[in-house]
Amino acid sequence: MAYELEINDRLKDKTLAIIENRKEYKRDKTWSFWKVFDHNFDDCVIKSWNNFTINAFENSHELTNKKFPYQSIDSGKFYNKISSKLSTNSNVSFYKNLNEINSKNSIIFNSVFEKKLDKSELWQHFQGIEIETQKNIFDEKIINLMDFNCDQKNNVHFFYTLPFSKNKALVETTWLSDLEDQSLMDYDLQLENYIKNNLGVKNYKINFTEKGAIPLFYPSLRNDNKVINIGSAGGMTRLSTGYTFLNIQEHSKYIVKNIDKINEVKIFELGKKYQLLDKVFLRVLKKNPEKMPEIFFNMFKTSSNTIIKFLSNRSNLIEDINIISKMPKLIFLKAFFN
Ligand SMILES: Cc1cc2nc3c(=O)[nH]c(=O)nc-3n(C[C@H](O)[C@H](O)[C@H](O)COP(=O)(O)OP(=O)(O)OC[C@H]3O[C@@H](n4cnc5c(N)ncnc54)[C@H](O)[C@@H]3O)c2cc1C
Repeated sequence: MAYELEINDRLKDKTLAIIENRKEYKRDKTWSFWKVFDHNFDDCVIKSWNNFTINAFENSHELTNKKFPYQSIDSGKFYNKISSKLSTNSNVSFYKNLNEINSKNSIIFNSVFEKKLDKSELWQHFQGIEIETQKNIFDEKIINLMDFNCDQKNNVHFFYTLPFSKNKALVETTWLSDLEDQSLMDYDLQLENYIKNNLGVKNYKINFTEKGAIPLFYPSLRNDNKVINIGSAGGMTRLSTGYTFLNIQEHSKYIVKNIDKINEVKIFELGKKYQLLDKVFLRVLKKNPEKMPEIFFNMFKTSSNTIIKFLSNRSNLIEDINIISKMPKLIFLKAFFN
């Protein structure tokens, strides 16, 4: 948001205080998404792909899309780009704590959850490692979005592989579950076994590790005239997927466009349609985790445009119906009326 304000000349006659408790900005994650609209960070993209697969029950389904590439952004490059841009404006300053400044007459854009989030709710938790192999073993043209050929432990579990080159890939183990079951969190071991047994890679070195837990529920939001919640804390996560990055870019553009009347305009939200559909989807997921590999697998048996637009909040009614028609009717109807 700070970058968007700066490049649109909104910080010429206003000051911006960024309260950040990190010691330094360095690569801590890899943001991936389908590029359904232009964003400011093409120069931070590690790689773009036009092909993706989803695997379940030893089957693989491949989709191709030239219009909306899947992109991965290196957060290290993103932080560098933004820091160097902001450092050119003396109206922007960094602080460690809110009490270091007088914010009495300021608007606060808050990206910190107000209270500790409930671990018994549904989360997407994961760990990824970027591995480098001696031999060229990856098909760098195809990403694997979800591979359900792994132990589910009564939850939903899949691996995700992004080949950055023939000998370098980000491999992630991802769970959709509560955060209380510690037995799901031996991520190192899960990755080691998957890389050895499923990808058939024996020798590799680890260049980078990332780890996270994204709440698949909306935190209670308190938007008042002074505080506007942004980022994950502002409800920008698509709950059925965890995708947040591009929604944040869209929210930032909305804020910048309306900055002069930000207290009067309506609060930016992901579409109500997706909020409802995701709520039903997650109810089904919670009740029937064992059915999810099949449900996800079938969901992708549609045109690549349809599934990408649906997962990126860009689908029209016909595309929604197309996706819904792939779902088991009775289970979803029960969840809908629950
Ligand atoms: C490892 C990882 C991988 C992810 N991958 C993807 C992806 O591929 N695609 C996607 O769309 N989304 C992804 N996400 C979701 C991700 O959360 C968002 O894309 C995005 O980073 C959220 O932005 P944010 O501003 O809400 O939070 P953050 O990026 O976490 O920023 C919050 C900032 O607030 C600071 N902070 C926290 N507490 C305080 C405090 N008390 N005082 C001062 N500062 C504080 C933090 O240091 C941090 O810099 C991923 C998340 C993680 C953790």
